[in-house]
Parts: sequence; structure tokens; C-alpha cells
Amino acid sequence: MEQSLLSYSEADDCVRRYISAFSAANGSPANSDPGSQAGLGHSVQIASSSRDELVALAAAHGRVLAQAICADRDQPPFPRSTRDGFACRAAEANTHEFLFQGGAVRAGQASGSLGAGDVWEIMTGAPVPEGADAVFMVEHADRHSNFVRLTPSRTVRAGENIVPQGAEARCGDLLISPGVRLAAAHIALAAQCGYSELAVARRPRVAILSTGDELVPVESSPGPSQIRNSNSPMLAALVAAAGGEPAILAAIPDQEAAIDAAISSALSSDLLLISGGISAGKFDLVEDALARAGAKFLFRGVAIQPGKPVVFGQLPRQSQPALPFFALPGNPISSAVTFQLFASPLLAALAGDSSPQPKFALAQLAGEWRGKPGLTRFLPAWCDFAGAPAPQVRLIPWQGSGDLAAFARSNCFLVVSAEAEEISDGSTVQILLS
Ligand code: AMP
Ligand code: MG
Repeated sequence: MEQSLLSYSEADDCVRRYISAFSAANGSPANSDPGSQAGLGHSVQIASSSRDELVALAAAHGRVLAQAICADRDQPPFPRSTRDGFACRAAEANTHEFLFQGGAVRAGQASGSLGAGDVWEIMTGAPVPEGADAVFMVEHADRHSNFVRLTPSRTVRAGENIVPQGAEARCGDLLISPGVRLAAAHIALAAQCGYSELAVARRPRVAILSTGDELVPVESSPGPSQIRNSNSPMLAALVAAAGGEPAILAAIPDQEAAIDAAISSALSSDLLLISGGISAGKFDLVEDALARAGAKFLFRGVAIQPGKPVVFGQLPRQSQPALPFFALPGNPISSAVTFQLFASPLLAALAGDSSPQPKFALAQLAGEWRGKPGLTRFLPAWCDFAGAPAPQVRLIPWQGSGDLAAFARSNCFLVVSAEAEEISDGSTVQILLS
């Protein structure tokens, strides 16, 4: 059984190839590698999420840019003083003679021209007068009525404390490309260039379907053998964090007709996440239901723990490209790990993000790990990012992949390679950020 599973890296490759094919089909700037599509082994027809929307600049944070941002003028638009001080000719200031203060300029004012042997008082952000090639700081100035000299213990270099016009950007330069997820710096840069609204990629709609006879809604009082549906709200939170728009469907029992109906009701979404019902149990009916709906399976099971039963594929639709789906194991931590590893990068690509990546980092293991090789493991852990000499990561004791209390005490997963039998205290290890 285990031999037929893909390894973690094979499954990761499979999702990456799918993303490349999607990006190529949508003309997106994502790191598409046309050659790699062949490796998919069959044709991929993928939903387009190319519809964009205009949003106010302040609301664009975290969205994926769907237009180019270009400089509408040189930046800075004038030679800008970076200090409060005196605009001068460096050679004249370095004589340490008293120089006549011929003028003054503050931010927002038009500048003038520096007479020979003069200085101008200048404020941070003001345009440097023509003829000046340096600004010396007010803290380094000796003043005597209308005359100023550079303090004799100091010198000033030509160019010092001046950013020349156009040094940051030239009018017309491409400053931010489509496909960038907008951070605060991008918002400020767009503002500087006069963009009060931005075209951003529409958030992909992600249908979330939890299955299981034992599930009741959060608001309900579960019977003695029932549990509350925690996966739907958790997956909705993960989807929103990854740039998608979650749509939680009503949880359904382990019954063929109910699963068939729920799958067909989700066909208009951009991505379908199903939780539960994909293990080997008698009432694990989801894979068969997906097959009845005509699914093409890209993988069915990956040699990872938790999350081994995870399924990836796409469903055919009438007059629409195929709908990608992930069927995630019902255990909450398995669902979370498989979402982060596989669904999150695909969702980022559907959202137009040009560099979707699972987020891995390096840390030093505090403690040791021993276990059987064979599966790549993602174990709940706590990383102290302020740890010395490197971030310190420690495993969280847990009762397996249903232990939400342990999961909530973690902030990452320790990655254990499929070959490892032992990791010693102090080793450098990979973590998956959660
Ligand atoms: P399954 O993948 O359906 O075999 O479920 C594995 C485990 O996860 C079982 O203990 C289920 O009760 C639990 N489980 C399945 N779905 C959910 C859910 N939506 N919320 C919380 N636990 C779940
Ligand atoms: Mg179940």
C-alpha cells in the first residue's frame, strides 16, 4: 500500500506543475515552466480566475496586484535634502571659512540658485538649490549672524545628504509588476505614484465541505458520540489567510447521495476542499463520490504524517474549465497540514500570486526526535524565534492528529525527512510555519 503513495516531494512537484500549467493558461507571470507541464501525464484544463476588481488603495493590502505600477514622475522629483542643514558647494564648505547665507528653503517650497561662496539654509525634504552639491548638517554648523561655516573638525563630501532627482526611479519606470501580493511598502509606493485605486485579482472562491456522520454545527450541543465540526471554520480561516474567499457548505453525513449532491453544488467555485471520508474505513465514501463525478486524480495519498490519505485532482464541468479539489483527511491537524502543504500554494496561484510557496524556515532543535523512517513528518512544535544562537524549536507533546489543544499550543511544524530515524539535540531542522 505505502509503495503506491507519492513521496512528499513528488506530491509537491505535482502541485507545482499544476500551478505552472494554470499560470501558463492564464498568462499570469507566475514561475511557469512550460516544459514541466508534460510531466503531468494528461491534459490540464484549469479554471480561470482572471477577473480583476478595483479597490481603494488602503483596502489593497494583502491583495494580489493585477496591473503594473509605474512612476508618474522622477523620484525624487527634485534633488532632495535628507537633512536639516546648509546647502553648499562641498569644496567651499571644506575651507571652513564663514560663508554668506544667501537664502533658505523648506519642504514644499520652490528652490533657487546658490550664489558663489554662499550657503542656503535647508530643511529635510526641501529641493536643493541649483549649484549646491552637498548639505552639511545643522549640528555641524557654526553660525555668526548671516554667516555660517562648517565646524572645522568636520568635512563634507560632494553629494552628501542629497538624493539626486530620479535616483530612486525614473518617470515611466515599472516599479511593481502584476502578481505581487501587496505589502505596506507597495501601498506607499503606489500612493507616491498617484494611484488612489488599484486593480487586484478577485479572491478565488473556495467551497469548504466537511463530511462525517458524527459532526454537528458549532452552535449545537453534541450528543454523547457526536463532535462539533471544527474543520470548516479552521479551513475557512486558512483560506482567508491564503487570499481566498471561503464559502462554508453545510456539513454532510457519510451517505453517497448527500456527498454526490454536495459535490455538484460546489462546482461553481474556484477550488473545492472536502474534509473527512477519504481513509480506508467502511464509511469513507468521498473518493468514490469524486470518481462518480468524473474526477481526474492527480494523487491519492502521500507518504506524510499526518495527512497520508490526502487526495488531489480536478472535476470536469460543463462549459467551464475543470475544478481543482483537495480531499483532506478529517483529523484536524491532518487537514491543516495538508492544506498548508498543497492547497495553500495552489490557492495563492489561483489568486494571481506570482510566487506561491509553502513557508519553510530553519531552526535549531531543542530536544531530540526518534522514530521510524518512511514518512515525511510534520509534527506540531513551538519555535522561539528570538532564541539564540538561532531560533529554537521544541516538539509539543500530542495525542495524535486529532489533538486540537496541542495544535493550539504550537506555532509551526517540525519537518522530519522520510529517511530520518533520529534527530539529535541542537541539529538544524526545517520547520513549516503555520
Ligand atoms: P475521517 O477522515 O473522516 O476518517 O475522520 C478522521 C477523524 O477526524 C475522526 O476522528 C473524525 O471524527 C474527525 N473529523 C472528521 N471531520 C471533522 C471535522 N469536520 N471537524 C472535527 N473533526 C473531524
Ligand atoms: Mg469520517
